[in-house]
Amino acid sequence: MIKQIIDGKATALQLCEELKQEIITLKKETGIQPGLATVLVGGDPASQVYVRMKNKKCEDLGIYSRQIHLEKDIPQEQLLQTINKLNKDPKIHGILVQMPLPKHLNERNVIENILPEKDVDCFHPQNVGKILIGDQDGFFPCTPNGIVELLKRYEIKTSGKNVVIIGRSNIVGKPLAVMLMQKAEFANATVTVVHSRTKNIPSITRNADILIAAMGMPEFVKADMVSEDTVVIDVGVNRVDAPEKKRGYKLVGDVAFDEVAPKTAAITPVPGGVGPMTIAMLMYNVVKAAKNR
Ligand code: NAP
Repeated sequence: MIKQIIDGKATALQLCEELKQEIITLKKETGIQPGLATVLVGGDPASQVYVRMKNKKCEDLGIYSRQIHLEKDIPQEQLLQTINKLNKDPKIHGILVQMPLPKHLNERNVIENILPEKDVDCFHPQNVGKILIGDQDGFFPCTPNGIVELLKRYEIKTSGKNVVIIGRSNIVGKPLAVMLMQKAEFANATVTVVHSRTKNIPSITRNADILIAAMGMPEFVKADMVSEDTVVIDVGVNRVDAPEKKRGYKLVGDVAFDEVAPKTAAITPVPGGVGPMTIAMLMYNVVKAAKNR
C-alpha cells in the first residue's frame, strides 16, 4: 500500500492561489504589477511549449508577461541588445531566456548579461554564489526550490536526515545539495550527491532517509535501491514509447514508481510531482523580484 503521494499539482495550485492574492495586494498598495519577459530563440517545439506554459501561468496569476520570439540565427550581439533593453525596462521584473539556445550562441555570456535582480531562473553566477553562502535575499532556482517547498508543506523534516541526490547538474542536483545542507531553519541535512562515476550507487541510496532522483534515466531507481520508509522525490521527466497512448509516448520519472512506491513513506508521482512546482516557483521568483524593487 502506498502511504503518501506528495501531490505537486495540488501544492502548486495552492501556492499560486497565495501568489495571486499577494499580487493583488502588491498592486493595490504600491501600483506595481510583477512582470516577466520570456525570450525564445528559434522554434524548438519543446521550448515553445515550456514558454507557452509559463506565459499562461503569468496570465492566470495577474503577472504582466511579454513574449519575445527571435529568429534562430540571431547574432549574439543582437540577443544581448534585447536583454539589455529588458534590463532597463521598469515593467519587467524577471527575464527568462529559454534554454537550450542554438549552438552558435554563448549561453553563459547571455546569462551573465541578465541583471542579477531580474534573473528569476537563478542561473547568474552572482545568484548561484548567493545560494552557496546561504543568502536568503536572493533567488533560489525553481526546481530545487520547488522540491524544498514540497518537503516543507508536507512537513518532511530534513534536519539531521541523510539526503541522497542522484545527479549533479547546475540546475537541479548541485544547488539542491547546497540548499539542503545549509545551516538554516529548513535544511541541516547530511547530503550525499552521486553521479555517473559513483561506484555502487544502491549501497548509498539504501542509506537515504530522503532520496532525490534527478538524472534523466527512465525508471533507474528500483525497489532494491530504496529502504523501507524512505521519502522519494522524483525529478526525472522522460519520454518513453507507449503505442497504446494517443500521442505514442508517455512520461515516466527516474524512479520505477510501481515497485518503489509501496516501500516509501512518501513519494512524488511523474507527472504531477516536481514539474508543476517548478513553474509555481518561477512565478514566486517574479513576485519576489517585483517586491525587491
Ligand atoms: P543533466 O544535466 O543531464 O544531469 C544528469 C545528472 O545525472 C548528471 O549529474 C549525471 O552524471 C547523472 N547521471 C546520469 N546517468 C547516471 C547514472 N547512470 N548513474 C548516476 N548518475 C547519472 O540533467 P538535469 O537537467 O539535472 O535533469 C535531470 C532530470 O530531471 C531530467 O529527466 C530532466 O528532464 C528532469 N528535470 C525536471 C524538471 C522538472 O521541473 N520536473 C526540471 C529540471 C529537470 P554526470 O554529471 O557524471 O554526467
